[in-house]
Amino acid sequence: MPTTVTRLSSVRLASSLFESSFSSRPAVAASAPGRVNLIGEHTDYNGGPVLPVALERRTAVAAGVEDGWFFVSALDGTVRGVEIDRPLRRDWTDYLVGVVRELRAIGAAPPGARVAVASTLPIGAGLSSSAAITVAAAKALSLLAGRRLTPAQLIEVAYRAEHDQVGVGCGRMDQTIAAHGAPGTALLFETGSGAIQRVPFPGRLWVVETGVAHRLTEGYLDRRRAECERALELCRELWPGLAHLADLSTDDLPAVAARLPADLAARVRHVVTETFRTRLAADALARGDFGQLGWLLVEGHESLRVDYGSTIPEADAIVEFAMDHGAHGARLTGAGGGGSVVVLAPEDESARVLAEIAQGFRERFGREPVAWSTRAASGVRRETLRG
Ligand code: ADP
Ligand code: MG
Repeated sequence: MPTTVTRLSSVRLASSLFESSFSSRPAVAASAPGRVNLIGEHTDYNGGPVLPVALERRTAVAAGVEDGWFFVSALDGTVRGVEIDRPLRRDWTDYLVGVVRELRAIGAAPPGARVAVASTLPIGAGLSSSAAITVAAAKALSLLAGRRLTPAQLIEVAYRAEHDQVGVGCGRMDQTIAAHGAPGTALLFETGSGAIQRVPFPGRLWVVETGVAHRLTEGYLDRRRAECERALELCRELWPGLAHLADLSTDDLPAVAARLPADLAARVRHVVTETFRTRLAADALARGDFGQLGWLLVEGHESLRVDYGSTIPEADAIVEFAMDHGAHGARLTGAGGGGSVVVLAPEDESARVLAEIAQGFRERFGREPVAWSTRAASGVRRETLRG
């Protein structure tokens, strides 16, 4: 199976892109990680818990003060002059424009900047490259303005940039792990209360990319969110004070099934059972019980497939092959409709498990999936630029 080795530093890539694009050196740089969510999918906009891990792969943003705004990404290497107050262009620069607008709203934006972005993350693969770029940009640009924002401020700027400005129906999970990730830990984030708790995650995990890019801004996630909002309205006819779908218990599901249309009842069933699984998974992880954790992941995947309708055949097959060949567990991670599968396997067995997944996938889909491993890594940070 092709494993992409990414020992390149995103900071060095961003810094050299800056120099070659702008013929000057950046004044500041910051980087933020992508993430895999171990479990807790579509719970973050329903008031439930999530359990993400920050990846070793990161996005770096290098910046220097300038009159006006000029953005370049290593994705295409083209410098774009951008007006912050003009309508969004409906391309990747919207994410940076969103960050600048939100920084301005709290008085933490520089007057203008040259910005170079580089990443070792796959883009649009369900690994949160969007929060990596917005959190790293919020950090770099606020530093350029002489401000040190708190993690909570960085999360809010990045969330609003993506949610309010770009218009993606995301929750706050991705920004939160990008800001709070730490080596050797997963983060149990209760999105209803905002509570965060670190849970030890000492080992490695594998990411198998389905090679199918999800398209969040094309409406699928917005549709699911709208369904959840409608389901919440209907549930409030039964439980008037209900704040979030995740506040329901599994005991309430028969009443939900009796009252709601079948598709909405299925969405609720996913959110409620996923909430239960995620808290159990955090306990299992804290005890080092990878057997139980693994089964919870597989049940979570089944719930996404059957009740949320967000898996794809490629992801279902990777989970099937992983479980047939001795993985602890596997699950489609991220919003769905494409993206990547997280695989937990005993470390001494992982090479064999991954080879079996590759072979099964090749036989069924006629191509090799890209796979790589990571340990839990750190969150957003300022990067020192080499002299
Ligand atoms: P994911 O977060 O799962 O990778 P999203 O669809 O949420 O997928 O975000 C991907 C989008 O974020 C890209 O289409 C692009 O607009 C923007 N983006 C992310 N990383 C970069 C980057 N390094 N350079 C330019 N744009 C990026
Ligand atoms: Mg994203």
